Amino acid sequence: MKVFVVNAGSSSLKYQLLDMRTETVLATGLVERIGEAIGRVTHKRFPDTEAEEKTVFDEAVTDHKMAMHRVIDLITAPDTGVIAEKAEIDAIGHRVVQGGEVFNRSIIIDTAVKEAVRANNPLAPLHNPANLVGIEVAEALFNGTPNVAVFDTEFHQTMPARAFLYALPYRYYKELRIRRYGYHGTSHKYVAGQAARLMDRKPESTNLITVHLGNGCSMAAVAGGRCMDTSMGMTPLAGLMMGTRSGDIDPAIIAYIAHQQGLGVREIDDLLNKESGLKGICGANDMRDIHARADRGDDMARQALEMFAYRVKKYIGAYVAVLGRVDAVVFTAGIGENDDVIRAMICQDLDGLGIRLDEEKNRTRGGARPIHAADSRVALWVIPTNEELQIARDTVTAVSTSAPTG
Ligand code: ADP
Repeated sequence: MKVFVVNAGSSSLKYQLLDMRTETVLATGLVERIGEAIGRVTHKRFPDTEAEEKTVFDEAVTDHKMAMHRVIDLITAPDTGVIAEKAEIDAIGHRVVQGGEVFNRSIIIDTAVKEAVRANNPLAPLHNPANLVGIEVAEALFNGTPNVAVFDTEFHQTMPARAFLYALPYRYYKELRIRRYGYHGTSHKYVAGQAARLMDRKPESTNLITVHLGNGCSMAAVAGGRCMDTSMGMTPLAGLMMGTRSGDIDPAIIAYIAHQQGLGVREIDDLLNKESGLKGICGANDMRDIHARADRGDDMARQALEMFAYRVKKYIGAYVAVLGRVDAVVFTAGIGENDDVIRAMICQDLDGLGIRLDEEKNRTRGGARPIHAADSRVALWVIPTNEELQIARDTVTAVSTSAPTG
């Protein structure tokens, strides 16, 4: 079965074509700057030994439909392609950011599903509309091929009300659907599944803290394969300190800034999402740059690193309390997978929680690997995330278990 995974953003279209019999990637790529004067298309096919990558900057990619046409051309053309015709694709899996409370699993897309996704647009105004465009373009260009929606929020739908409700007047939950939804669900689900497998344990009896540290950062407390709590909230702004997002702050700060500086809600929203986090503290949001600055003696870069690691450590403590017993802490995404310094800072002095890092193992590079000391009560793992593979798996499951309703 060949599954085409699509992640449509407001001006981009990311794709991956996988052969699910072997779970191998056949081709992957990205169309960027959709709607701008000159677009950019990056495409890579496997298993060419050189894993040749083709980048084309040539003409405007006016809209997502044109972007999808370009991608179909690339994956079917003799010199760049991996299939002879698009009809070889058995299903299309779409990343959809916000599934609200309606979707706790991936589902074949029909009119009712699209309506429900659209109804969630106010909760994710930057993402869901773009995801819907991707769906509609795929429906138009892949006539009759099932399209499946895989939601970033679905893994977190198992959270109990005590974890997902905010202590606001209850009517805000009922009327405006204000609650914790959580994001990065496919990543947390993927690494949680991998961790149980790698530890040779049953997922149903494994308790995990999954730590996704990329540009966006989030954590989840996972008991027996079910999410019990997560750090992102109604939006991805909550929780950990991120590249440019503040994570948790005292909510009264917003009114204070508005009052002191005469800023409107939009401007404050931008401030918290785009100018805060690591960037707000030290001026840089790429972790590699921050380390380079800290190594050169930049005190604010060092401060940012300390704050970043401290916030993760605090959430580990909180999630140990949520779960009662923790079998493993799993680090993933750009920083979680690659940054041994941050992992060491996070795990420092956690002996009281049964967490002990092996410094040498922590410095190793490569794929999935344990990094805990022999006497650590809690296992520590680095597991590379693979959201596309999880989307493709969930697409296969949806296609093989459900039928469209409308
Ligand atoms: P996204 O959330 O956009 O998918 P990624 O998971 O790719 O992001 O993570 C991006 C972050 O990972 C950036 O802060 C980047 O600096 C960091 N990163 C990538 N490689 C390394 C590395 N070798 N060491 C430290 N940080 C890294």
